Amino acid sequence: TPIVGVLALQGDVREHLAALDGAGARAVSVRRPEELAAVEGLVVPGGESTTISKLAAAFGLLEPLRERVRAGLPAYGSCAGMILLADKILDPRSGQETVGGIDMIVRRNAFGRQNESFEAAVDMAGVAGGPVEGVFIRAPWVESTGAVTEVLATYEGHAVAVRQGNLLATSFHPELTGDHRVHGLFVDMVRAAAEAPAAEVA
Ligand code: GLN
Repeated sequence: TPIVGVLALQGDVREHLAALDGAGARAVSVRRPEELAAVEGLVVPGGESTTISKLAAAFGLLEPLRERVRAGLPAYGSCAGMILLADKILDPRSGQETVGGIDMIVRRNAFGRQNESFEAAVDMAGVAGGPVEGVFIRAPWVESTGAVTEVLATYEGHAVAVRQGNLLATSFHPELTGDHRVHGLFVDMVRAAAEAPAAEVA
């Protein structure tokens, strides 16, 4: 059973822990560098990306996170977590840093005021059995991606789920739906990485 951490600084940590358990992983909270060192995969939850990045820096986790992601640690970010895994934020708050790893530019709160929170059926590549229920809450979208970033889902023409190697990100929150298929995809990625460790990317 793969040990998968949830970055537990702020956001919907408990929901991700439950979804990971439901998807067959052993889910643990990660708040300290030693806890990060012990996991085979990591979820960065939804919440507030600025707060999460500030707390990660304060807890001495930002550099260790960057190093492990660079070394091939499978990671999945939902919503704020997507922002944290992006190499670039289009409209960062001042001083807002990311862990990075996915070659993409994200736009925070992209869906705008009329549509700050909504649900929509989303077809997602790699997730069998019909569309997932996309819960979007002040969600980002992916403005642009690099050559190796795969778009797994779009909504109204905007990329809302992407994968690059061992990294996965969604604009929406599958952890709030009781449907564990997206977490299942991630747990499969963690298992595959444990079997064939990825080469370090420069
Ligand atoms: N808008 C939030 C941010 O910029 C993300 C919202 C969410 O995770 N539901 O961090």
